[in-house]
Amino acid sequence: MKRASLDRHTPYFEMLEALGQPGCAVCRLGARAVTRYLNSLSYETVNDVDLRATIREALGLCNHHAWQFVTETRELLGTAIIYRDLIRTLQRRTREQPSQSALIPRGGCVTCAALRTAITDGAELLAASWPDPALREAAAASDGLCWNHLVAVLSASRAAARRRDVVAVQRAAWDRRIARARREGQPHLLLEALASAPGVIGARAQPSANAPPASGDADLAEDAPEVKLGHCPVCAAVADRLAHRRPEIAVGASCPAHAWLSASRLSAVDVDSLVGRLKDLDRRLVSLIEKDSDGPALLRWTRRYRRGWEWVSETVAEADCSACREQRDQEIALIARAGPSTLCVPHLQLAALHHPDVDALMFQTRRAWRAIEVQLDEYIRKHDYRFNHEPLGEEKEAPSWAVELVAGLDGVR
Ligand SMILES: [Zn+2]
Ligand SMILES: [Zn+2]
Ligand SMILES: [Zn+2]
Ligand SMILES: [Zn+2]
Repeated sequence: MKRASLDRHTPYFEMLEALGQPGCAVCRLGARAVTRYLNSLSYETVNDVDLRATIREALGLCNHHAWQFVTETRELLGTAIIYRDLIRTLQRRTREQPSQSALIPRGGCVTCAALRTAITDGAELLAASWPDPALREAAAASDGLCWNHLVAVLSASRAAARRRDVVAVQRAAWDRRIARARREGQPHLLLEALASAPGVIGARAQPSANAPPASGDADLAEDAPEVKLGHCPVCAAVADRLAHRRPEIAVGASCPAHAWLSASRLSAVDVDSLVGRLKDLDRRLVSLIEKDSDGPALLRWTRRYRRGWEWVSETVAEADCSACREQRDQEIALIARAGPSTLCVPHLQLAALHHPDVDALMFQTRRAWRAIEVQLDEYIRKHDYRFNHEPLGEEKEAPSWAVELVAGLDGVR
C-alpha cells in the first residue's frame, strides 16, 4: 500500500501526527474524538431521535462528559434541549415508578462509548501498522503511550516479537519522560503515563452502594454546607472536601479521576514514587509477555484462549479506589441525616437506599425540576431567531443548573 497517496486525514496520518505531539498519541486521539463528538452533539445530532432516546434512557452523560459538554461548547442551546428532555424524563419516571428503579440509568454514557471506540481503533491501528517504518520511527521518537493504551496496543498485537518491540520502544520513551519529569520537576508527565491524560477520563466506576463502610473517618461527622435553594448539599460537601483535602496520591490505588483531581497538589517530591510505580508496571509487563510466549506455540494459543488475556485488564485505573470509597461513605453519612432538600440524581440514587424518608427529598427535588424546566423553556424560546433580541434573565444559568441536578456537581462522580 502506498501511504503517501492516501488522504492526509486518514486515521493513519492522524496517528502519525499525534505521535509527533506531546503526550500519549492514543490519549490525544481519544480526547479529540470526545471533543468532536460533543461538538456534533450540540450542533448537528442534537435532534437525532434515536440518539436522544439513548441519552434519555441513560439519564444523560456521565458527570465528566456532561461538564465537558457545558464548558467546551460556546452555545448551550444543545445542552438546554438535551437536559430539558432529561428533566422531563425524570419527572415522568419518578411519577410512574418507585424512586429506586426510576433513578437507575439504562445504558451508559454515549460519549464514553465514543471514547472507547476511538481508543480501540487507535490501539488496533498502531498494532497493525507497526511494521510501517514511518510509524515505528514516529513512535520511537514520541513521548510514549500511557499505561492503559500500551496495554491496549499489546493486546491488539498478535506476534510476541512485535509485542517485545513495542515494549522496547515504549521503555525508551518512558525513560525520556522520567528524565524530563526529574529535570523540570514535572510529575504530571508521569501521572499521564500512569493514569492516561485527563482528556480521556470518562465515567468513574460507581462505588457499590452496599459495600461495607470505611472505618472511623472523623470528617464523616461534618454536616453538609448551606446551599442555595434547589442545589444539592451533598455535592457541595463533596466538592468542598475535594478542594480542601488532598486525597492520597496513591496512583495504582486511585481511579484516574481522583488521581487527576489531586494532581494540582502533586509536588516534585512525588516524582520518585511515580517513577517507582511506572518501573514496577514495566517489570510486570515484561514477565507477563515472557510467560505468555514461552512453551510450544500450540499450548500458548490454547492457554491464551482459555485465560482470555487476563492481564490486559490489569490497569492502574483501579476499580477499588480508596478516594471513591471514602467519598461514598461521606455521601451516605450526609444523606442519612439530610433534612428535606433537593438532591442531584446520583445522590438521590443513594438516598433511595439510605434515607428513611426519600419521598420528602423527592418532593423538594421535583420543585427544583419544575423550576428548571420552566427556565429551560424560556432559554430555548429566546434562542429562536424571532425572540433572540430579548435579553436573557435568570434562565441564563438554567443549562448548568440542569446538568448539576442530573449529573451532580463537576467532579463529584
Ligand atoms: Zn493514553
Ligand atoms: Zn462519559
Ligand atoms: Zn449531589
Ligand atoms: Zn476514585
